[in-house]
Formats: sequence, structure tokens, C-alpha cells
Amino acid sequence: MSRMIEPGAAIGVLGSGQLGRMFAIAARKMGYRVHTYSPDDDTPTGQVADLEVNAAYEDLDRVREFASNVKVVTFEFENVPAATTAAAAERTIVRPRGEVLHVTQNRLREKTFLQQSGFPVAPFRTVRSVTELVAALKELGCPAVLKTAGWGYDGKGQAKITDPSQADAAWQGLNTSEGVLEGFIQFEREVSVVAARGSDGEFVHYGVIDNRHQNHILDVSVAPADVPAAVTKQAIELAREVLEKLDVVGVLCVEFFLTHNHQLIINELAPRPHNSGHLTFDACVTSQFEQQLRAICGLPLGSTELLRPAAMANLLGDLWFPNTPNWGRALSIPDVKLNLYGKLAPRPGRKMGHLTAMAATQQEAIEKVIRARELLAFVGERPA
Ligand code: AMP
Repeated sequence: MSRMIEPGAAIGVLGSGQLGRMFAIAARKMGYRVHTYSPDDDTPTGQVADLEVNAAYEDLDRVREFASNVKVVTFEFENVPAATTAAAAERTIVRPRGEVLHVTQNRLREKTFLQQSGFPVAPFRTVRSVTELVAALKELGCPAVLKTAGWGYDGKGQAKITDPSQADAAWQGLNTSEGVLEGFIQFEREVSVVAARGSDGEFVHYGVIDNRHQNHILDVSVAPADVPAAVTKQAIELAREVLEKLDVVGVLCVEFFLTHNHQLIINELAPRPHNSGHLTFDACVTSQFEQQLRAICGLPLGSTELLRPAAMANLLGDLWFPNTPNWGRALSIPDVKLNLYGKLAPRPGRKMGHLTAMAATQQEAIEKVIRARELLAFVGERPA
């Protein structure tokens, strides 16, 4: 094992959203200092960090200065430019290494890597013009999903094409010079594996998590996923191979489609803690955020044991309208845990926080967390 970065040291986080916030909470709990770097001010991460640096990702001198003051740099935001991680790497260790971010922040690079390494992915074609899109639609057939190659998340920058006549509108709507057309997968459900790899190759995982989406945004996650043992085994094995192949030191999430005949297809990789792993914060011995800290600091990885079946429900900004959420009502269910990200402006579709519930069974946990979320909209009496 390489040299440990011990408690007391400063850790740098590129990005300043909720993932950085939960990472910072875990890191500060273990006595580390956290510095965060992003163009924004009073951010979810900055509010709980020791130092919030406000600068552009393109300001490489500031990035170098930031990196000089910390023992290791990690990221919580996937679209950090490659030049930024490279500048940080001139001054300190970057984990996971910048190349992992470079591959996974672009769908074409990611899919090409997965396909060339023999991982199961949906059939896809690169498209750089409407002519190429029409040709790709002929090859893959309809329905198909057109996505931007870069800068896409939560279904942003994508369009489902059900008929070739929609090609022109879909291409114009994407507003990009490079896209990827994917065959549409008729999945039974979507699942993920959040896993971590240490600097010495140690591998741990949080099992298979079941993910339900609304409007392409994760809505509810449940652990453990109720899937056949063979599916669990294969999903974990695929995750292990991905982390090894990319030589990840840190946390990475593999998102899968599970087809009706129990075939796993990799949809996306996220080289960081993931929304589907948020339930580990309240429901596991070691959260995905503490695990990221342990991995990047060269500490032994922690137990991923799930204490009880758990469910997580995202809280989107929509819940703030027309009335602010009724927190008292939701928290009247005693084993529901509230996590809010400190975002100042609620907007429809914006991830503001999440609820986690634990119970004797997955179904009970789902019912509890959904009931609690419904209670947020309760307009009657608010407990004192
Ligand atoms: P993504 O941004 O690629 O994670 O896509 C967001 C969501 O769109 C996924 O979670 C799926 O529900 C859906 N989706 C994306 N790609 C496909 C596909 N090739 N086939 C079917 N559904 C898809």
C-alpha cells in the first residue's frame, strides 16, 4: 500500500455540489480538512468545508495553487475539464486519476472503452450530422435514443426517436456537433453497483441497488435489489472488472439495464459516489463517501454492510411549490432520515435533498420513504 494520508491532512475536492458536501461531512468526521474548488459561492460543499475556493476550472494557476495546499485531490463533478485535473496532478495526487474522468465524462469515449474491453453495452453509433444520424437509424432501427457525447446527465441532452422522420428535429434539438445513437433497451428494471477500490487493489461493493426513475431523474433507490443471485453475482463481477480495467482508486458506480431475460447491459459509469448510493450514508456501516475518503487516502476500506433493508427518495425542488415542505410531518415517521444539501434556490427538477428509510423489508422501506415524501406536501397543521 502506498503511503497513507492520515487524519488532519487537507483533501481537495473539485466541484461543490451535494456529493462534495456529503464527502466533506464524512471527511471532517474523521478529522480531515476539506478544501473545495468551483466557480460558485456559498455552495453545498463550501458550506461544510474548511475552505471554499472560488475560481474557474480553466484558471490553471489557481488550480495548481489549490492542489499545492492539499495532500490529495478528488472530484465530485464529472465535467471538470481534463486540463484541470492535469494541472492539479502537477502538484499533488489526483484520485481517481484524471484519465478515469476523461474516459467517463464523454459517452463516446466511455462506450468505446466498454465495448473494446468486452463489457455488455447497448449497440451504438457515433453521429456528427443529420446524414450520419439517418444512416445510424437505418442500422440500429427504431426506437433509439440520441444523446450528446459530452455534458449529459439525468436525461439532459437526449431524445428518444421512434420513427426515422424525427431524425432532423432530434438532431437540431440536441444542439451539438457530436452525438451517440443507442439502440433502445427494453429493460425490466435499472440497477447499479456502487464499488470502491483501494490503492493496493482492495475491492469492496455495496451489492446491487434497484433504481426507479421519473422523467429520467432518479426517484427512488432500494437496497438490496430483489434480483436473482446469479444477477447479483454477475453485476458485482462486472463492476470489479470495470474498476480494475480503469485502475480506479476511489468510488465508481456502474449503472445497468436489466433485461427481461436477466441480461445486464452497462448504461453508464460514474467515477464518484452516486445518487443511488446515497442510502449508504444512513444505512451502511461505511457510507460511499467515507469509502471514497478511505480509498483516496490509502486507508483500509470499511465494511459495506447494510444494517437493514433501505430505501432512498430524492427531494426535487418541485416539492417547494406551492408551499415549502412540511418537515415536521415527514419526520414524524421516526426512522426516516432527512438529508438536505443547503441549496439556496429550489427549482423544479433540482435535487435539493433526499430521505432515507430503513425497515424490516425492502417493500416496507419503500412505503415508509414514499409516505414521508408525501407528507412533505401536507398543508394542514405543522407540528411545533
Ligand atoms: P442516461 O442519462 O444515459 O443515464 O439516461 C437517463 C435514463 O434514460 C436512463 O436511466 C434510462 O431510464 C433512459 N435510457 C437511457 N438510454 C436508454 C436506452 N438505450 N434504452 C432505454 N432507455 C434508456
